[in-house]
Amino acid sequence: MSDTALTAGQRAQIEALLLQQQDAVERAMRAQQGGAGRVEFASQLLSDDPDAPREHEGERELQLERADHLADAQRQIGDALLRLRADDYGACSDCGATIPFDRLRAQPVATRCVNCQQRAEAA
Ligand SMILES: [Zn+2]
Repeated sequence: MSDTALTAGQRAQIEALLLQQQDAVERAMRAQQGGAGRVEFASQLLSDDPDAPREHEGERELQLERADHLADAQRQIGDALLRLRADDYGACSDCGATIPFDRLRAQPVATRCVNCQQRAEAA
């Protein structure tokens, strides 16, 4: 049901890459949040001593930004793994063209071919 050019071996490579990335993201999240969930983490940060020096404000924002970025990456990786396992992986979400394996290997979470990605980023 898939007309992607990926062989079983290529799919296995992509899956391994995604699992590696997922592992790295999860480790980064644990390191940053000490295992707390995103919301809990935010409230911990915000409930810190209100009399704390102002210079910590920027640091909090940075940490929250980083937590958002990690959550985003985790979602993209999870989606890619689902697509891969559902045999719905490797076709451009915009034009349906097969995304070249080299592109997928460089960026396993890619959902668009290079042309559509450039168009989307330019828009
Ligand atoms: Zn496309």
